[in-house]
Amino acid sequence: MNAPINVLRTPSRSRVRRHGDSPLALLATLSLALVLGVMAVVLLQGGPAQAQQLGSTSQRAARIVRLTFDDGPVRPNTPRVLNVLSKHRVKATFFVIGQRARRHPGLVKREYREGHSVQNHTYTHPDLTTLGPVETRRELRATNRAIKAAGVPRPYRFRPPYGATNVRVRSAGASLGLIQTLWNVDPRDWADPPASVICRRVVSNVNPGSIVLLHDGSGANTVEALPCIIKRLRARGYGFGKL
Ligand code: ZN
Repeated sequence: MNAPINVLRTPSRSRVRRHGDSPLALLATLSLALVLGVMAVVLLQGGPAQAQQLGSTSQRAARIVRLTFDDGPVRPNTPRVLNVLSKHRVKATFFVIGQRARRHPGLVKREYREGHSVQNHTYTHPDLTTLGPVETRRELRATNRAIKAAGVPRPYRFRPPYGATNVRVRSAGASLGLIQTLWNVDPRDWADPPASVICRRVVSNVNPGSIVLLHDGSGANTVEALPCIIKRLRARGYGFGKL
C-alpha cells in the first residue's frame, strides 16, 4: 500500500514547484492537489474499506467464534486448556484422536462434562486422501467407539487430519453420519510461535462465524495464548460457541 502512494506524492511536489505564483498556476496547483488527494484517499481505503465490509457483515451475522482444539487428549496440555476455558467460561470443540481418547478416557469425559463438544479426528491421524474408503471408515468408526467408550455421546462431526480431503473422504464421513468440519482461521500454533503471535494471528483474522484451529495435542504456547485470545475477542464483542 505504501509504494503506490509514495509514487503519487513525489511528482505532486515537483509539479507544485514548477507552477510559480500566478492565479492560473495556483488554480492548476489546487486542482492537481485535489485530484491527487482523491486518488490517495481511494488508494488508502483498501484497509478501512475492508474493515467497513467486515463491520456490516458482523451486524448481519451473530458475533460468534468457535474455538476448536485438535489432536488431544494428552497430558498435561488438555487439562490446562480445559482449566483456561473453564476459568473464562468459554465452550469449545475438541476434535480428538481415537487412539489418544482410548488412552485418556477420563479427559474425554471431562471435556464433555464441562460443556464442550467432542468430535472425531480419526483414530491414528492419517492423511485420509491416501486411504481407501474401507480404511477411512475404519479410522472414523474406531474413533466414534473410543469416544462412546469414554461415556460421551456419539460424534456428528469429523475433521480430516491436515485438512486433507476430497469428495471420497467427505462422503465416507457422511456415510457414518459425520459432517466434515474444517476451519477458516489457522494461527499455526502447532509450530510453536510465541503466545503473543498466536493471539494476534487469531484476533486479526476472526470474523463472525469463524472456526479457529488450535491444538491441545501439540502447540507449546497455545495454552498461554488462550487468555489473550479470549479477552481480545470479547473486547471486540465476540461470544464463543461450540460445533
Ligand atoms: Zn490433527
